[in-house]
Amino acid sequence: MADQDNNDVADLIKDSPIPDSPVIPTTYDGEHVISFRCHKDIGCFNACCKNSDITLTPYDIIRLKKHLGMTSSDFLKKYTVPYEMEKDGMAGVRFLPVENGTACQLLSEEGCTVYEDRPTSCRYYPIGLLSMRKQDEYVDRQAYALVKEEHCLGHNEDNKMTIDEYRKQQGVEEYDEIDRGWRQLILKRKSSGPGIGTLTKQSLQLFFMACYDLDRFRLFVTSSGFKESFQMGDAEFEQIQTDDIALLHFGFRLLRQVLFGESSIDVKDGVTETRAAAKKERDAVKAEANPVDPDQPSPDDNSDMYTMCEN
Ligand code: SF4
Ligand code: SF4
Repeated sequence: MADQDNNDVADLIKDSPIPDSPVIPTTYDGEHVISFRCHKDIGCFNACCKNSDITLTPYDIIRLKKHLGMTSSDFLKKYTVPYEMEKDGMAGVRFLPVENGTACQLLSEEGCTVYEDRPTSCRYYPIGLLSMRKQDEYVDRQAYALVKEEHCLGHNEDNKMTIDEYRKQQGVEEYDEIDRGWRQLILKRKSSGPGIGTLTKQSLQLFFMACYDLDRFRLFVTSSGFKESFQMGDAEFEQIQTDDIALLHFGFRLLRQVLFGESSIDVKDGVTETRAAAKKERDAVKAEANPVDPDQPSPDDNSDMYTMCEN
């Protein structure tokens, strides 16, 4: 493999859902044949989940919070820990293991307690999904890598199939489809380089809320302040009140507007000017009340967030 290719693959492996794993540094397409089988009677049953490092996607969180009957905020608090995907960049979310241990909190002696709603990384294992991107484009191309860990005996099983067949068997197509907008935002940010500038604290907070804390995001977009600002049809407004997937897609559109200046959601006439004037007034009041850090937002004040979304 050429050096450039090796560098690209190393970069992609870093971005993969299973980073820091013994990924074989070769990329494959969906036609590549693997031999693998995981089942309850295998000697290493649960070994992988006892030492897990699972990154969660937005759709993973929707499935898991529903399975566990929790709000997204409660789920995030109990089961996850945020991390920076890159310095000063967007946040990712990964599973928080059991206290003083490395095992997944959702593991029992019998196996995964959320099996039918297990996350993307758990479904993909031992395949790593690598998304490639072109400079300044949202378009991504998928490639795969193979993870071979010593403890995993599934590779010794005589059960041949293509990666595409394995993905189908594991039900990842639906996950990849729903999460595509999220992955593309990350790729676009990474491939844009310094030209796009530093993301503000508020735009990063909005990214986190719209991608991972959907129940809180719903409160934000269904608030009167938001509705007064944006052109939203009644049908769309109704749908995002109850449908998490529709809300997630709406969030991806809003984030393209906020992070990359795309006009993806129309602002109502005159709103931008009115808000800019109101913001100026608020900033003056804040500066007077808190001369040390006038940019410190009040926790319940979403006004600056609305303004940012209109840009
Ligand atoms: S969610 Fe299930 S499959 Fe994934 S690491 Fe936890 S126990 Fe294992
Ligand atoms: S075969 Fe691999 S994936 Fe399956 S339980 Fe064993 S270690 Fe985990």
